[in-house]
Amino acid sequence: MNKDQRITVIGGGFSGLLIACMLGEEVTVLEEHKKIGYPEHCAGLISIKTARLLSIPRNLVEETYDEMWIHSRDGVLIWKGKPLAVRVDRLGLEEWLFHKCINKGVNIQLNTRVQSVTTDGKISLKDRLLEGELVILAEGSRRYFSRKLGFIRGSDDYLGLQVELKAKVNIRNIEVYLTPLSSDLFSWLIPFKDEKRVIIGLASKYTRNLFDRLRLFQKILERSGKIVNSTIVKYFGGTIICGPVGRLVVGRVIGLGDAVQMTKPVSGGGLYPITMASRILAPKLRRFLNGEIEWDIAVNEYLSEVEPLIRRLHLTYTLSRIIRRRNYQLIRSFMKGAWRLGMSNKILSEIDYDEHLASLTKIFIKPRKIGEMFASYFLGLL
Ligand SMILES: Cc1cc2nc3c(=O)[nH]c(=O)nc-3n(C[C@H](O)[C@H](O)[C@H](O)COP(=O)(O)OP(=O)(O)OC[C@H]3O[C@@H](n4cnc5c(N)ncnc54)[C@H](O)[C@@H]3O)c2cc1C
Repeated sequence: MNKDQRITVIGGGFSGLLIACMLGEEVTVLEEHKKIGYPEHCAGLISIKTARLLSIPRNLVEETYDEMWIHSRDGVLIWKGKPLAVRVDRLGLEEWLFHKCINKGVNIQLNTRVQSVTTDGKISLKDRLLEGELVILAEGSRRYFSRKLGFIRGSDDYLGLQVELKAKVNIRNIEVYLTPLSSDLFSWLIPFKDEKRVIIGLASKYTRNLFDRLRLFQKILERSGKIVNSTIVKYFGGTIICGPVGRLVVGRVIGLGDAVQMTKPVSGGGLYPITMASRILAPKLRRFLNGEIEWDIAVNEYLSEVEPLIRRLHLTYTLSRIIRRRNYQLIRSFMKGAWRLGMSNKILSEIDYDEHLASLTKIFIKPRKIGEMFASYFLGLL
């Protein structure tokens, strides 16, 4: 067996490159595109915690945001943090991971499409067969092999369409809209620091007229004066997956990232859970590669350490299904009540950007906070 082929990673997106650069040599990444990072799909919003866990160079952090304004026809909630989130140069992030991989001796094969993979780790390409010791399936949201190999069954998918606009931008914070334009998920506006560019986007299960709805959203923002004289720079987007997380290991194949629906179910953000899972997985596989432990021990250790994260994602998935019911009726009641109580900028203050459920549980042990939450909700129902 070729030394490069002990671990083969299918997909050179964020998950595949991240785990490969954590492992270094003895890893081969197979990526079907000629260039890393394309087609673009992600908005690149992450928490400062995730940016630090990834040790992202400063120049890739393009913007920090202290507030997210969540709008609905019933009011506004202001989610604050110091900072709440950062926007990273998403193409730059993948290029940085790519170079890190190369420096660590990872064998990256671009323009190489995997045609099939079996649970015992046999991979077929157009012109050859690969037989390594194990496979990491990081094929992204297409989930062709993950469905075939039984990693996932159900899913909660939305089509996310974004457009970068050149415009005079009159706001500084992220804005999210729970409006009829995308009532099953949400739409968003992410301003750039230079006040001359902005990303607006819209996600929905109902893909009919998505472009028209995005243009309408642009017009509404123009009319409100939030953006002025906007012109289109580029469209991008893809499938936003809101869970549930699937199986993580089948035979000799480990699923990672969108391939196994490893995302935050409220927003579909994948970079945080992928980073957390990769940080747990990499040291186990390293020990396996060094011959310190057997494959099954490495896998069992990984599964037991990653289990709390996966459990939280599953519970948050259930919670997200509840809050999205009837076009976010529950959240809209909070918004209305919080506005009446003058608490629009307080009610979300303790929710963590990544760990929505864990921070909610913390709130529920504080009697004053429970009081505020219930008061807002019931006042909102009136
Ligand atoms: C519109 C939108 C906005 C988003 N915004 C955010 C955000 O702000 N913050 C956040 O955290 N997350 C966001 N996400 C989610 C985030 O982008 C994903 O969770 C993350 O990119 C998943 O990385 P991945 O490597 O698993 O998949 P991908 O990045 O999709 O990579 C998969 C790779 O596998 C390759 N591949 C697939 N099949 C094969 C094959 N057969 N052979 C070889 N190669 C193959 C593909 O070409 C691709 O390069 C967003 C997603 C969308 C769609």
